[in-house]
Amino acid sequence: MAPGSTIGIIGGGQLGRMLAIAAAQFGFRCHVYDPHEAPCAAEVAAQFTRGSFDDAAAIAHFAAGCDVVTYEFENPPTGPLEPLGDRLRPSTRSLTVAQDRSVEKRFLDAAGVTIAPWAEVDDAASLDAAIATLGLPLLLKTRRFGYDGKGQAWVRSRGEAADALAALGGRPAVAERAMQFDAEYSVIAARSEGGEVRVFPVSRNIHRDGILRRSEIPAGLAVEAQIEQAEAVTRLLADALGHVGVMTVEFFACADGPVVNEIAPRVHNSGHWTIEGAKTSQFEQHIRAICGLPLRDTALVGAGATMDNLIGADIEQWPALIADPKAHVHFYNKGEARPGRKMGHVTRVN
Ligand code: AMP
Repeated sequence: MAPGSTIGIIGGGQLGRMLAIAAAQFGFRCHVYDPHEAPCAAEVAAQFTRGSFDDAAAIAHFAAGCDVVTYEFENPPTGPLEPLGDRLRPSTRSLTVAQDRSVEKRFLDAAGVTIAPWAEVDDAASLDAAIATLGLPLLLKTRRFGYDGKGQAWVRSRGEAADALAALGGRPAVAERAMQFDAEYSVIAARSEGGEVRVFPVSRNIHRDGILRRSEIPAGLAVEAQIEQAEAVTRLLADALGHVGVMTVEFFACADGPVVNEIAPRVHNSGHWTIEGAKTSQFEQHIRAICGLPLRDTALVGAGATMDNLIGADIEQWPALIADPKAHVHFYNKGEARPGRKMGHVTRVN
């Protein structure tokens, strides 16, 4: 795809915003599609269409003006995207697997990678059965539309079962055995149309209240001991999906080796540090992959990096951050700083 071509982006959040900024460096025009009035990606894109993700006619009209279409989140319905065929990158296959935890776990089991023992849970009887086979404690997660720890409830005793089901609002769920791990980390990889895969240096991820707070590179000894295995798993999964673009695999560093938590078929919050900390950013690499351009070196530019999310009121620290000579600041201009909302991030390269 030559400079001047148009990239459609389904979803207008901060990931779309950073994709559009990276695409603009190549002279690509981005056209953002999102149901909100003023999504933060739209203000850095050439064009914006406001429309619902399930409006097949509106999506067809939007896509007709794009040379390639990508997505920045895993939940758009696949039906309206199906007619795009090869112009949708990654394909609906990656979306289908990532947007339903049960489908995802079947895919991971079939690929032969290690995941937490799990069971489908739709009601009190299937939760009882899951407790009997998986033991306690276990974590209930809605099959669809969960993010940042939302749609999850712990079951620590049989007495908590009814409350956990109620907390999920009766939605179809999966139960997972509680895993013991030394750290959480993610492997971010880009796969080209021709099947070349390049993997970014691995970050250790630290969460609070189910939301990513910090990503650190180097990832520490417990993670480093299993990085090679985790990279091999990531390559295997990218190939099995026939994925084109960036994808992320989240892992638990368990004593027996890497355990896959979940797949995100997209650029990832834990890879924001690559903008300044790696020779190529995850956003540029995604644009390269979906536009059929050569993938680039993902090596660190220094000894490491840390990325801190600015969540909710954290954004009020902006005057000090902007004056900090070591801080690379990214403010998303999302408006109201609601608790739990990702408002920006700060990267420091060591
Ligand atoms: P998820 O939305 O699946 O990424 O889960 C959110 C967070 O919950 C993860 O980052 C972990 O800290 C924790 N978690 C998820 N699944 C498990 C599990 N099976 N055992 C222990 N902790 C988990």
